[in-house]
Amino acid sequence: MSVQYWEEEMETLPRVGLESIQLRRLQHLVARVYRTVEPYRRKMEAVGLKPEDIKTLADLAKLPFTVKDDLRDNYPFGLFTVPLEQVVRVHASSGTTGKPTVVGYTAKDIETWSNVMARALVCAGASKGDMIHNAYGYGLFTGGLGAHYGIERLGATAIPVSGGNSKRQINIMRDFGSTVLLSTPSYALNLADAMDAMQVDPKSLSLRVGIFGAEPWSENMREEVERKLNLKATDIYGLSEVMGPGVAQECLLTERGMHIMEDHFLPEIIDPDTGEVLPPGEKGELVFTTLTKEAFPIIRYRTKDISRLYYEPCACGRTLVRMEKVTGRTDDMLIIRGVNVFPSQVEHVLMGIEGVEPHYLIVVEREGNLDTMQVQVEVSEGIFSDEIRVLENLSKQIQKEIKDLLGVTCRVKLVEPRTIQRSEGKAQRVIDKRKI
Ligand SMILES: [Zn+2]
Repeated sequence: MSVQYWEEEMETLPRVGLESIQLRRLQHLVARVYRTVEPYRRKMEAVGLKPEDIKTLADLAKLPFTVKDDLRDNYPFGLFTVPLEQVVRVHASSGTTGKPTVVGYTAKDIETWSNVMARALVCAGASKGDMIHNAYGYGLFTGGLGAHYGIERLGATAIPVSGGNSKRQINIMRDFGSTVLLSTPSYALNLADAMDAMQVDPKSLSLRVGIFGAEPWSENMREEVERKLNLKATDIYGLSEVMGPGVAQECLLTERGMHIMEDHFLPEIIDPDTGEVLPPGEKGELVFTTLTKEAFPIIRYRTKDISRLYYEPCACGRTLVRMEKVTGRTDDMLIIRGVNVFPSQVEHVLMGIEGVEPHYLIVVEREGNLDTMQVQVEVSEGIFSDEIRVLENLSKQIQKEIKDLLGVTCRVKLVEPRTIQRSEGKAQRVIDKRKI
């Protein structure tokens, strides 16, 4: 199989050349935000930093971080660097945990975004001839429209189906011959359920590859999705504060990480507690600086996503650094009796056990002074109708494997198929009653 690229020169540039482009763009960016955005200028002044102090890429670490609260404090348009007349589109977060965060794009930003998204699609093996089934939500969320523009830029056929109405999705897949599926991994499982209910064999469809993102998911979940939908499942990364989908994408030749579109998005890994930049290969919080965005550039944005960077060459020929699959966020980490637990670790255990379905919920409570964790998980039809001893053994096995991997004792509740609520976008995996 020959490797295809969208912007070959940039995607395979030797690192020395890439880094010189990054530095030039970074210097230009810092000078521009210093001149045009008061909150950035004030932050730089507070640490005695001038744009001309950025002489090397390592000087990036001297710049102050940007966090979600900076976006909220300057709601809605306070961090834009251009007049609103030049902004052709805005997107916003759902605002479920406070004021929404708002981002804006110039015509050139949309151009850049379409191109990085087209790169991501090609990186996942899509091409002009594909029927691309886009089940990311269209609207203020960046997923739907972001992916859509990339599909059109590539010249493939976009099916802008958006999320929801799984039965219709399956009919469209079958009748239109969808070859590539874009959705959240949890929604992909919903679609698998719907196929099952409609007695549509995934092997009878034309799906070849899935591009899944917008929520953390485990390697075992990937296998589950691949098996249930009969496709190759790849991982895409993006967030609205940085651009939207297309910031990074897994290629077909690596088992380790997504290529970051580094000429546009400069990554760092920091220690989430001290803010210190960690050496290449170490695990920590992912931080991004946008190098080419006009309307809403962002400097050292703390994503809260936990990852690491791999600089080793990739078999596909791309020189762009790879980021490890995000399996957790600093803010979805649960602390159970002093032990750090990520929902994706629980998922990883569950998906590795036979008879367990990929639908689960973690309920955390405090009883007296003690935290308790209950894992509710669906089991397959056959097992549920089995004798009680089979269910008891399965419970014990789950409990033991979670204890072995995470060091935490939990209660396990096996539930009947299709009793845990399904998501149409990002799944809710945790109910933390300690916070209510
Ligand atoms: Zn690669």
